[in-house]
Amino acid sequence: MDPNTETLTHATLDKAREAILATDRELVHLLARRFETVRQVAEVKRAEDSLPLLDEARERAVQETWLQDSEALGLSAPFARRILKEILNHSRRIQEPILEAHEASTRRSRVGFQGIAGAHSALAAAHLMAMRSNAGAELQGYPTFQDAVVALQNGEVRYALLPVENSIGGSIQDVNRLVCDQSLHIVDEEVWEVEHVLAALPGAALESIQTVRSHAAALIQCETFLRGLVGVEAHPWFDTAGAAASLGASDMSVAVLCSEEAAVACGLVVLARHIADHDRNETRFVLLAMEPETPDSRLPCKTSLLLRLNHHEGSLARALAAFAESRVNLTRIESRPQPETPWEYLFFVDVEGHQGEPHLKAALARVRACCNHLRVLGSFPNRSVRQEAHLDGPRPEAILCPMQPPMAVLPPAQDHLRSSFHLGNVVIGDGRFVLISGPCAIESREQILEAAAMVKAAGAAVLRGGAFKPRTSPYAFQGLGLEGLRYLREAGRHFDLPVVTEVLTIEDISIVAAHADVLQVGARNMHNFALLKELGRLDKPVILKRGMSATVKEFLLAAEYILAGGNQQVILCERGIRTFETGTRATLDLAAIPILKRATHLPVIVDPSHAAGDRLLVVPLALAAAAAGADGLIVEAHPHPETALCDKEQALTREDLEQMVAGLKPIVASQGRRW
Ligand code: PEP
Ligand code: MN
Repeated sequence: MDPNTETLTHATLDKAREAILATDRELVHLLARRFETVRQVAEVKRAEDSLPLLDEARERAVQETWLQDSEALGLSAPFARRILKEILNHSRRIQEPILEAHEASTRRSRVGFQGIAGAHSALAAAHLMAMRSNAGAELQGYPTFQDAVVALQNGEVRYALLPVENSIGGSIQDVNRLVCDQSLHIVDEEVWEVEHVLAALPGAALESIQTVRSHAAALIQCETFLRGLVGVEAHPWFDTAGAAASLGASDMSVAVLCSEEAAVACGLVVLARHIADHDRNETRFVLLAMEPETPDSRLPCKTSLLLRLNHHEGSLARALAAFAESRVNLTRIESRPQPETPWEYLFFVDVEGHQGEPHLKAALARVRACCNHLRVLGSFPNRSVRQEAHLDGPRPEAILCPMQPPMAVLPPAQDHLRSSFHLGNVVIGDGRFVLISGPCAIESREQILEAAAMVKAAGAAVLRGGAFKPRTSPYAFQGLGLEGLRYLREAGRHFDLPVVTEVLTIEDISIVAAHADVLQVGARNMHNFALLKELGRLDKPVILKRGMSATVKEFLLAAEYILAGGNQQVILCERGIRTFETGTRATLDLAAIPILKRATHLPVIVDPSHAAGDRLLVVPLALAAAAAGADGLIVEAHPHPETALCDKEQALTREDLEQMVAGLKPIVASQGRRW
């Protein structure tokens, strides 16, 4: 090549390369500028709640311009499209966190209430939230209490503030029902001084009023005043502020009971003040949340409890005595009927103190022993006492809940505090030795009926049978499922035996609970905490089997999952653990029986069948378990063990059962217990 040409080409190439570098830098600057603008757009969207993150029409317009320009300049369309896609994706990634942070922060402080702006609930919510944080809160009204709770459950609001009782009208049952039916937590309270006024359109006179509209609760609270207005009719309205807002130009003969704030906001004039039946008219609201909160432990606290006592004489007295003896002050006790079990009652109990304080913890441990169900609805600042005085000094360590050690733990040797409850019509834990027996699995209607007859005749009090079997091999018989549950229930009814069966999954709980008197959690599921939590919400006894490799402490903490959810009817079952010994299916940990009985107030039973794995070993292990203090046994028995579809080697025959019972009775009697 001509050296001159060569120099020229090199110069052109260098120039071109420089131009490319410059263009690239320009591209980077342009991209940075584009993304900066995108960030600004996100800020605008954040300020304007109603603007969506993705505006599809706008994105289409951007694409069209991009593609037209690319085509006009001769760029390949697929390439141009790919680049734009990357840019748009990145833009969205920039906007998302900005908007999400905003979403989360508004949700964090959004409070749902029943009614519209100006309602007493809204005023109380604004006051409480201002006390809780300087930032205050965004309030969101809903037509009903239920709607506010649904909004809370959907994550639309972070809290719901609902009225639970009024000093004149008493308790607000709709709200109490919601609080006990749902898994909500009480995280704060507000005691709101309610000031109703009678308000009407400008120009209206008290003498010409014929109708008074307001929330039913307000009408009750001003009953005496209203009765004094001759010929006036009371019309319940969904909300006090809603009643104020409802007045139209022609409603000159209608007045409303509402807050003065609502009257002013709706342009009404006040016809009368101080109209409530009593000088002090206070409503107590609770702030509900989906998760519990730990209040500032410098503040005096209250704890709300929901309990269902077991059906024994003196249960309520014992529960109240437990509070009194631990010097726990009750601030409220109220009963609520349970529609599903007529004439049994749930009690709402509020006490002073935080659930983590030692004296309240001790009282709760004792109260649990008298309850079938006990749920701590929450510990929260006691707003009926002055709080400010307690806030001097540094914030101490938070009291953590759930509590340590396990709530089921009781001081040793308090036999009078042992839990006892019903398995159908059989009581466990009150000194009776309860034999639960039946086949490993329900195999057919005939089989379970025959087995039920056999175990009943031998002296069993409860019938067992698996419908959903947790088999080690997926190819082994998995149980008859729902069909099995139906046969089990039929056999139980026919022979007047309560029935127990295993539940494997959360989805099966309701169907199993509908058929069985007692639900069993098998060894393989002891660590299934999600299942245990759900069983904590149930009002049925649960037999919890010890996991094959679980220590006693892990076993107790698993039980704690059920207790902490509210369900106090837990039976602990020792069924053998895995050791280096291969002579038995598992090693029965007999020492666990007295250890568990010392550590908890719960009934303890033993399953010698799965520990032994061999029918010849079952009877001696059963006798040893009774001697060690078990409250009962769960033993596999089959009318024809040789044909059993499951665990045939360990199934007792009729004769084995009889021999076992003959050996057990003197042991039980020698301990002063009943069969
Ligand atoms: C059972 O009782 O049928 C059973 C499967 O027991 P475990 O969970 O103790 O193995
Ligand atoms: Mn079995």
